[in-house]
Amino acid sequence: MATFIWPTTTKRVTSGFRTPSRPNHHGIDIAESGYHPIYASASGTVARSYNSTSYGQCIMIVHNVNGQTWETVYAHMRDGSRRVSEGQTVRQGQIIGVMGNTGQSYGQHLHFELHKGRWNSNKSNAVNPINYLDKEDNKMRYRLRTGKFNYAEDLVKAKADIKKEQKWALYEVPESLDWNPGYRIITAAFDSKKEAENARVKLRRIIPDYAVYIIEA
Ligand SMILES: [Zn+2]
Repeated sequence: MATFIWPTTTKRVTSGFRTPSRPNHHGIDIAESGYHPIYASASGTVARSYNSTSYGQCIMIVHNVNGQTWETVYAHMRDGSRRVSEGQTVRQGQIIGVMGNTGQSYGQHLHFELHKGRWNSNKSNAVNPINYLDKEDNKMRYRLRTGKFNYAEDLVKAKADIKKEQKWALYEVPESLDWNPGYRIITAAFDSKKEAENARVKLRRIIPDYAVYIIEA
């Protein structure tokens, strides 16, 4: 899985990062006419969701990738299209707005910035997004899988108990044996085995009646 994915449906780059003709262009422009949703390039927390005179309708998202802070910027979105607000957590690929032409923009496009570290007004942490988009990081990830739930009520209760204490994304996987159908719960992925092991201990405490396994994601 790529750490950062392309932030919209098109990859048509019309202006690059800090080119000789635009040395102060600290991001890339991705342009195409028509309706193009904007995606969160990676999971994270919305740092800003606002209207700027220069960036126009703009969203900034802070990411933590294996302990490294990153920040992405999505600018010039359509008026009224911002779907997330400050402090909200977003998943990679979640739609956060629609490509537009607001702020200092001459023609519909997405201005996208990637910062290794936090965004600052000097853009000193900006890096060329092209070097990171859709790059496989080949890093092993880990998920947790519970033992089987044979009764729907137990599954619902376990999910509610887990949600109450943890913010992990949870998925149900059916285990379909005709004579004894059941479900398991699988969590979102953890970046290290140690994190997964810590999470496993917590999960065992929350649902003591069920075995919890670490699986490779
Ligand atoms: Zn731009």
